[in-house]
Parts: sequence; structure tokens; C-alpha cells
Amino acid sequence: MEKKEFKSESKRLMDLMINSIYTNKEIFLRELISNASDAIDKVYYKTLTDKDKEFNKEDYYIRIHPDKDNRTLTIEDTGIGMTELELDDNLGTIAKSGSCDFKSEQEMEEDFDIIGQFGVGFYSAFMVADKVIVETKSIDEEQSYIWTSEGADGYTIEPGTRKTHGSKITLFLKENSEDNNYDDYLEPYRIQHLVEHYSNFISYPIKMVTEKS
Ligand code: ADP
Ligand code: MG
Repeated sequence: MEKKEFKSESKRLMDLMINSIYTNKEIFLRELISNASDAIDKVYYKTLTDKDKEFNKEDYYIRIHPDKDNRTLTIEDTGIGMTELELDDNLGTIAKSGSCDFKSEQEMEEDFDIIGQFGVGFYSAFMVADKVIVETKSIDEEQSYIWTSEGADGYTIEPGTRKTHGSKITLFLKENSEDNNYDDYLEPYRIQHLVEHYSNFISYPIKMVTEKS
């Protein structure tokens, strides 16, 4: 499978995320939930302009699954999903204004709080995960795709088996270190706290899958 390279600005942002000494790593969850919510919004707007389509509220939600056995945290949505092309465009490049373009890494570190406030986006997942898998199916395409990255050196895209539109982001959490206990993000009460703290305004239900014990 061909490994694709991130665009250079993305690579820099990724490097910064991966090696982040930023203490507020927990904001990754806010970012992923906000993307999930945006993706559902897009379906909603689509149904507004398409008289044949209905938006059944109960079909739209965000699901979080902390899996202790596998040390993965999954954030899934029933939103618009991404085509193969969109996956490549959206997750291979910084889609935003390019606020990082003209800044040195030093400046970026210093500005991190400000950047954090406006949202650092999808790549913030790499503050807590050393591998990220995105399985997604666009509402406009039959085939689903799997995007996989283990960091700044690139990503792969391959066909997947997902049947319904939406996206599932799986974070393979980093090993714990002296300063960071990533296992924390596998605790349902901790997730719940983060959701209440950062994602209170999200207009779709956020469900949590808890493991049977
Ligand atoms: P932003 O949300 O500010 O555009 P992000 O880095 O958070 O930037 O996300 C980049 C892009 O990736 C989004 O604009 C969107 O097109 C796409 N994307 C990310 N997560 C999802 C998702 N769960 N479903 C659909 N598209 C997504
Ligand atoms: Mg975003």
C-alpha cells in the first residue's frame, strides 16, 4: 500500500502535536466531537434542500467508546462521512486559514493557548494517540475507506467495510509516561467530565459505550 506524505504545514503541526508538552491535551476530545457534530450538521443541511430526504433526529448521534482491553478510544458519528478524495484532502492538509503557515515552531508553542481556543482540529488526536484510524463512508459514495496514520511520516488509505454513512475515529492511546497517564481517557467518568466541560453546547446526543464488567 502506498504511503502518502502530509503537506509540509500539516507535517509541522503534526510534529508539534506528537511531541507536545502542552498540558491541555484533553482538548482533543472537544475537537473530535466538534468535527462529528459538524458532520451531522452537514447531513441536516443536505436534507433541508432535498425534499425527498428527511432528517430523523433519532438517527443522528455521537458515540464514544473507551475500550480498556485494547487501549483504544473511539469517537463515532452518523454524519456525512468522507469520500476517498475528501479523506485525502481534509486529513492530509490543514484545511484552515493556515494560521500556522508563517509562524516558527517557537511562536506556535507560545501561541498554543490561543490556537487551542480556536481549535487545533483533527491533528490534536496525535497529542494522545500514536496511531489513528478513520473509517468513513460518505453519504454520496457506496464504498467506505480507512485512513491510517502513525504520525508525521504519512498515512495510507484503503477500502473499508462500513455500510452506513458516518465516521469512526479510533485512537490508539500512547504509552503512559511519568507526566501523562493516557489511561485516564479510558475512564468513563473522565470522558463524561470532559464532555460536560467542553462539549456542553453540542446539539446531538453524545452516547457512551461502557464495558460490561
Ligand atoms: P476544521 O474542523 O476546522 O475544518 P479539522 O482539522 O478539525 O478542521 O478537520 C479537518 C476537516 O476534516 C474538516 O473540515 C472535515 O472536512 C473533515 N473531517 C474531520 N472529521 C470529520 C468527521 N468526523 N466527519 C466528516 N468529516 C470530517
Ligand atoms: Mg474541527
